[in-house]
Amino acid sequence: MRCPYCASLEDRVVDSRLADGGAAVRRRRECLACGRRFTTYERADTGVPWVRKRSGAREPFDRSKIAAGITAATAGRVESPATVEEVARAVEAEALALGPEIPSEAIGRLVLEHLRILDPVAYLRFASVYKGFEDVADFEREVLELQKTTAPKRRPSSPGRS
Ligand SMILES: [Zn+2]
Repeated sequence: MRCPYCASLEDRVVDSRLADGGAAVRRRRECLACGRRFTTYERADTGVPWVRKRSGAREPFDRSKIAAGITAATAGRVESPATVEEVARAVEAEALALGPEIPSEAIGRLVLEHLRILDPVAYLRFASVYKGFEDVADFEREVLELQKTTAPKRRPSSPGRS
């Protein structure tokens, strides 16, 4: 299969073993053109979505990875692991609806949409990683964007409320 580094189609399998409790075969391949190694997974096509990473490599959708990312972003902000799991399951369902192969960026966007509603700080934390913010200006732009979209809910409290 095509090398994710140099796009050559020539490779050899250097290791092959069962993965995921036997649900998949994991193969280490070595590109005959550039010599770099990459991993492929082979599994029955049952509708589990694949994630296509920026490098071109694909891996099976893994909800626990999504949950780990959400847990990191919401640390100290969202108390309940059940909430994290709920968001991860929602993202999984949405990812499934997108098709058999989903770019990793699209999954990042799905997570961001949920975090935007869940918690603004968690949203910014995740966005800073996902979007690869490089300087403060990026961050400020995102904060402004966030304030725009959540403004109606965040008006100062009315005088009647004490
Ligand atoms: Zn190569």
